[in-house]
Amino acid sequence: MFDLAKVSAAFKDAGIEFSAGAKQLFDASLDHARYSFSPDIVAYAKSGADVSGVLKVAGRLEIPVTVRGSGTGCSGGCVPISGGIVLDLSGLNFIEIDPLSRIAHVGAGAVTAEVDKAANAFGLFYAPDPSSHKYSSIGGNIACNAGGLRALKYGCTRDNLAALAVCLPDGETIKCGLPLRKFSAGPNLRDLFVGSEGTLGVVTEAWLRLLPMPKARRAALSFFDGDEEGFRGVEKILLSDITPCILEFMDSETLECVRIRNPQMGIGKGKSALLAEFDGTESEADEGARRFVEILSEYGARMAKTEAEAEEFWQVRRKSSQAMYELGDSKVSQDIVLPFGAVCDFFRFFKALGRELHLATPVFGHAGDGNYHIHFMYFADEKNARERALEGMDKAIVKTVELGGAVSGEHGIGFLKSKYMPAQHSGRQISLMREIKKLFDPKNILNPGKVYSVTDISGLHPLRGVKLPWD
Ligand SMILES: Cc1cc2nc3c(=O)[nH]c(=O)nc-3n(C[C@H](O)[C@H](O)[C@H](O)COP(=O)(O)OP(=O)(O)OC[C@H]3O[C@@H](n4cnc5c(N)ncnc54)[C@H](O)[C@@H]3O)c2cc1C
Repeated sequence: MFDLAKVSAAFKDAGIEFSAGAKQLFDASLDHARYSFSPDIVAYAKSGADVSGVLKVAGRLEIPVTVRGSGTGCSGGCVPISGGIVLDLSGLNFIEIDPLSRIAHVGAGAVTAEVDKAANAFGLFYAPDPSSHKYSSIGGNIACNAGGLRALKYGCTRDNLAALAVCLPDGETIKCGLPLRKFSAGPNLRDLFVGSEGTLGVVTEAWLRLLPMPKARRAALSFFDGDEEGFRGVEKILLSDITPCILEFMDSETLECVRIRNPQMGIGKGKSALLAEFDGTESEADEGARRFVEILSEYGARMAKTEAEAEEFWQVRRKSSQAMYELGDSKVSQDIVLPFGAVCDFFRFFKALGRELHLATPVFGHAGDGNYHIHFMYFADEKNARERALEGMDKAIVKTVELGGAVSGEHGIGFLKSKYMPAQHSGRQISLMREIKKLFDPKNILNPGKVYSVTDISGLHPLRGVKLPWD
């Protein structure tokens, strides 16, 4: 326990905004996964100097600091499981566009979609587009190496990042990389911070790469008679001469839920579905969609002829996440990545597991990256249902790793997935990661208890009935 009055006084002296009000503490206590742990105080940084000030106070008094962007994370990364200070970066949100260098220089709290919008004014765009882009922050995207729908063509956050400013736990800020096209002056420390989930340093500024905006987009959709036919459709596209920017799969359980929840959409007969989008010049986008339809002609694939029809296609995907709640009021989910050749094997295993455990198992996701969001749905009031879901997920993760896959493709580890780190990495790898953590953060004040330490979540329960802005 620490002296809250001392911390408040230090923040006041440094001119840092803070609150210990009940609402502010609650809002800072959870992310999208809804496991709530209250901090003792929330500090609101508006500048790099504020971040440095907070870290100096925390270091001096040895108080844990959990960095928070927008709180859309799905792994409990920004949840203050050890109490202490939540450092909220949403106010550090400047955006400057340099069209000559095709670089956006932004504060870590800048919202992803706002960066894209600012770039659009110069005929440029920021490619990474997590589905949460209207809310998520660039700092959070960097900390989790967020992917997005367009990752198939444009890569994840790491691939679109030029340089970073990072405040280290002792309060000193360093610049990692430069906003140049090339940089080969020794190991680039930038890459250590990407995916480090706020455990090594606090990203305060980022220089992001921008691209010329595509002139056109075309959507195409195919339904299949079953899930495995759908995966065969994915293989046909990946083996072909076309590169969609988006390739999203919805399995039969997911599609059925969308159908039940949204009868007005008039979704046709198919069981699973594959949505693709192509971008580029008018003729490139047209040609991509035309070839998609040709390659999947035996399944009756269609290309959207109008913007309105494209939006109808998109609705099938957009409704998936919420529609799954037809199958239960709670879920245990992961965002695994599978080698393309192992998708059908995993899928058969996962569905059999669901039958054995009497749980629904909808799957959808970024098929072009082999990155699937897998779910065990359950009703929280049903006896042992959550235990069964957790047990099922443990087995699914072991299988994923056995098949050569990854426990997370974009959501990160936080504390909710830390128990899977030993399945993914050898003891030597984990001890190297811990050494790196110790080097940057010898007092272990930044996001303690996350990523490298295993947390048992079996006794924890997510809050129900809490509405978040993106729901
Ligand atoms: C509806 C929905 C859809 C989603 N879709 C996708 C998707 O398509 N692709 C995808 O990748 N993710 C997706 N996500 C997950 C989430 O949006 C991303 O992980 C996002 O990058 C989190 O950003 P945030 O600002 O909300 O971070 P937070 O949740 O606030 O924090 C996430 C982690 O980053 C750390 N962090 C935050 N800011 C900083 C900083 N400045 N410096 C150091 N560490 C920091 C935190 O400590 C924490 O560990 C989705 C989430 C939701 C709710």
